[in-house]
Amino acid sequence: MNGILCFYIEQDIDNFGSFYPYHIYYIQMNLLIVEDEISLSDEIRRFLEKEGFKCDEAHTGRIASDKIFSNEYDMILLDLGLPDYEGIDLLKEAIKNKSEASVIIISARTALEDRIMGLDLGADDYLSKPFSLIELKSRILAVTRRKHGLKGNVIRIGSLEINFNKRKVFYGAEEIPLTKKEYDIFSFLVLNKNKVTTRLQISEHIWGDIFEENYNSNYIDVHIKNLRKKLTEYLEGNFLETVRGIGFRFIDPEI
Ligand code: CA
Repeated sequence: MNGILCFYIEQDIDNFGSFYPYHIYYIQMNLLIVEDEISLSDEIRRFLEKEGFKCDEAHTGRIASDKIFSNEYDMILLDLGLPDYEGIDLLKEAIKNKSEASVIIISARTALEDRIMGLDLGADDYLSKPFSLIELKSRILAVTRRKHGLKGNVIRIGSLEINFNKRKVFYGAEEIPLTKKEYDIFSFLVLNKNKVTTRLQISEHIWGDIFEENYNSNYIDVHIKNLRKKLTEYLEGNFLETVRGIGFRFIDPEI
């Protein structure tokens, strides 16, 4: 099981006291691409990875079935026409296994019955081939928003804006230049603002499964140090607190 994906947090993000549920994987989603056209599968993976998603691929139904059974995905992009499997059967299996993954069917089959059958079975959306990768991304984000009741892709704290769609942080109109890892760590701390986030939680969130092999908690401290340096130009006070022996806490400057 992928450690980064297994718990919910709730966060008040607007100025009116409303609570919006967030799931951590909104920042870092773990997708399975089930597609037997290898070049298309690769194209989707390359595009989505560039957009910050974690992707896994399965080019046959059997491999997809194994992967769905042994991993936790946030989303499955499912081609219905596979050489060894009916895509619809994979969908049924995923549902039977109580997979939490959202499913977007990507299929050349435009027959209305296929579409309706997929959606009736529990797929969240349906995209006919050929589709644009930009559209795929916005469907993925829309399905995720719907699933978790998110109303937008942005968190604002004072003049600070964390834009999950762009994966960027702004202060007013100015972008704060963060590296990918700095962004991942910072957005995670902001989602957990005013709470202590442990080093282990950060590692699991950022490195997922792999951290066990090459994990070194010094990495986190280095990133935190750089984050502080960059953010001090915009934020005042001890906004990024070290909680000795435990982890870190982002303190909402508005409190
Ligand atoms: Ca196919």
